[in-house]
Amino acid sequence: MSDLSQDDIRAALCTIVDPVSGKDIIANDMVSGLVIKDRNIGFAIEIDPADADRMEPLRKAAERAVLALDGVSSVSAVLTAHNAAPAAPAETPASDANPEAPANQAPATSLLPGVGAIVAVASGKGGVGKSTTAVNLAVALASLGQRVGILDADVYGPSLPRMLGISEKPKPLANKKIEPLEAHGVKVMSMGFMVPEDTAMVWRGPMVIGALEQMMREVEWGTLDVLIVDMPPGTGDAQLTMAQRVPLAGVVIVSTPQDIALIDARKGMNMFAKVNVPVLGIVENMSMFICPKCGEQTDIFGHGGARSEAERLGCDFLGEIPLDVAIRVTSDSGQPITASEPDGPHAEAYRDLASAVLAKISTATTRPAPSISID
Ligand code: ADP
Repeated sequence: MSDLSQDDIRAALCTIVDPVSGKDIIANDMVSGLVIKDRNIGFAIEIDPADADRMEPLRKAAERAVLALDGVSSVSAVLTAHNAAPAAPAETPASDANPEAPANQAPATSLLPGVGAIVAVASGKGGVGKSTTAVNLAVALASLGQRVGILDADVYGPSLPRMLGISEKPKPLANKKIEPLEAHGVKVMSMGFMVPEDTAMVWRGPMVIGALEQMMREVEWGTLDVLIVDMPPGTGDAQLTMAQRVPLAGVVIVSTPQDIALIDARKGMNMFAKVNVPVLGIVENMSMFICPKCGEQTDIFGHGGARSEAERLGCDFLGEIPLDVAIRVTSDSGQPITASEPDGPHAEAYRDLASAVLAKISTATTRPAPSISID
């Protein structure tokens, strides 16, 4: 154990001056969520998001100042626009980070009082068709008569505006909340409406969760049966924090059939298991290729890997979606196949997935506030 105290850290941070106000960052009350874990320090510096670029040197200077203290072995300072938790100290691998939530966080259950079930769609890595699945699942749920919203938490590559064909921005309402946009019967909110893609670099765990909470609390979602959350890919701090902070009814894991993708999917599942988020099941995307000319099936990435993996892990297999150029073309042009070809076989596959998800969440008991298990 080290003898480092919060006061030691704060004293070091008194030397860091905010260029905007001219005051030091402690006097200016910009430091929050200070965490000391052994010799590893984490904290957030609260800033106006518009200043994010020019605050990066300040963040680095703050890290250096704390690192210079005796007994400190790592420092993780993050810029945040919100009063949220800091990232776990840098030395701790994300998947093994101590995810204990700071006491200053409000219970997440109050974020979305009108929403029946929040369902995350996640993948162990990018490019496996997570967003495509999330969008088509949402539209399929709406086609089954559910009141559905979709929230794009994939700040590293917000693709929902494009996939749902939305180019306008959401409007503020008289009650200061934001009205979500609507497409194909689904209410939509995305970081892509608010953040230019080239600023994505500054998004770190606390900023992501802060923005995500804002997109829940400050958006007039109204009454929804299901809110789909398109999670960022991978298993870093942002995903872990979200899994803890958002009262998820469960998570749908998207994987391609290749072993390597399944290894990533397993990591994703382990992460959710750690924070007691139920895994509703696995979907195998790009499961098989059906030639549009001759109808022959080719298993480009192998086939059935996700099904056998689900069996092995004792979780449900929710279905398989073929690799078909029509899915790509429709989703890249803002007309998801569930909406543009509702009578086709792919829409049917997504409706089957939607029914499986509905069955799972209707039998799930209401989950209490996340409880944390630490290895
Ligand atoms: P992720 O969210 O995992 O990064 P995306 O949903 O953005 O992945 O998909 C990556 C690319 O693959 C997109 O161009 C998308 O249209 C395409 N794609 C996804 N699923 C399929 C599928 N089943 N068949 C054909 N193309 C697909």
